[in-house]
Amino acid sequence: MLKFETLYKEGHEEVVFFSDPSCNLKVIIAIHNTILGPALGGTRMWPYKNEEEALSDVLRLSKGMTYKAAVAGLNLGGGKAVIIGDPVQDKSEALFRCYGRFLESLNGRYITAEDVNITVEDIEHIFTETSNVCGVAKIHGGSGNPAPFTALGTFRGIEASCLKTFGDRSVKGKVFALQGAGSVGCHLGKLLSDNGAKVFFCDINEKNVERFKEFVPNAERVSVDEIYDIPCDVYSPCALGATINDDTIERLKCRVVAGCANNQLAENRHGDILKEKDILYAPDYLINAGGLMNVSIEFEGWSEDKATRMVDTIYDTTLEIFKKSDKDDIPVHQATDLLAEQRIQSIKNIKGRYLGRLAHRFPGRKKLI
Ligand code: NAD
Repeated sequence: MLKFETLYKEGHEEVVFFSDPSCNLKVIIAIHNTILGPALGGTRMWPYKNEEEALSDVLRLSKGMTYKAAVAGLNLGGGKAVIIGDPVQDKSEALFRCYGRFLESLNGRYITAEDVNITVEDIEHIFTETSNVCGVAKIHGGSGNPAPFTALGTFRGIEASCLKTFGDRSVKGKVFALQGAGSVGCHLGKLLSDNGAKVFFCDINEKNVERFKEFVPNAERVSVDEIYDIPCDVYSPCALGATINDDTIERLKCRVVAGCANNQLAENRHGDILKEKDILYAPDYLINAGGLMNVSIEFEGWSEDKATRMVDTIYDTTLEIFKKSDKDDIPVHQATDLLAEQRIQSIKNIKGRYLGRLAHRFPGRKKLI
């Protein structure tokens, strides 16, 4: 059961349940923090076992978005939505349009986008009912699929990690173990290979393996379990979260962990262990922020040039975080959290001054002066 105690502890502002039996819509939206701006985060569709499981996912994910936006320097807060349902059987135009109408009622406090199992086509249906959505198709003025920009940002984070670890930004001649040949994995694999890296990869989905081979013909496939044992310079998790855990951490034979997957550390203490083992960890929610940066530009008019320039800043921010981690002698994940928290706090502390807007609220009255 959802308890206010939990919301207080984790800092969530608002949790909304929307439902409509006519189209079998069951959605939970969590708005974690809007100090920096409207909460932005994707909608995930998943056949959760029950409401409890969906709720705990949306609370965790929405908090992560607050940190991601803050550290990326965006004027956005954190939020996320989960639709409980089977993406193969339960999707319909009515479901997404109904969801869009509910989103409209939140008055822009939450803006949605794609997440797991939500496609640009689904977003189009939502867009029919509300403008509080991004990741809209390019043909309708949006930015389309964010995966190439997520990959570019991850690549910039990898370059920063290479500079810090090997004294040279280039990935040329470096060996990568890339886990997950999905949308982002394909684009990242191609960037690495085109820039002279050797790529080993794995995936559980044969269709995605075939697509990856087209993107990166020189890559070498290994088994799903073997990926942790590959002697390499960089282990790059691009599938699921929590792959740095008690079972895998002793097997890693790399100098750097840097990939696009969310929540790579099973627990924060695994970040501490990486530091003890002298393995550099590139903060996942910073280096995978390229997709978020890309969609955020839609509201001011998207262009590939603007998106690329913004995503490129991930290189400098990653270096800044490494510097902070060294200076304060704290693990990288802690330094990243601190940077995000400090930015939110500093904006929260700004003193408001009366801006003389009172008269505008009562347009029928005469001005006082
Ligand atoms: P995707 O679903 O297209 O790709 C994930 C791939 O991982 C799939 O090919 C899947 O078969 C594979 N996979 C699953 N379990 C695996 C396992 N045990 N071993 C090997 N492969 C496995 O998803 P995506 O959009 O490429 O996202 C990848 C990761 O990056 C996710 O964690 C996602 O949350 C994160 N991320 C994605 C974006 C984005 O723009 N798409 C943005 C930020 C973060």
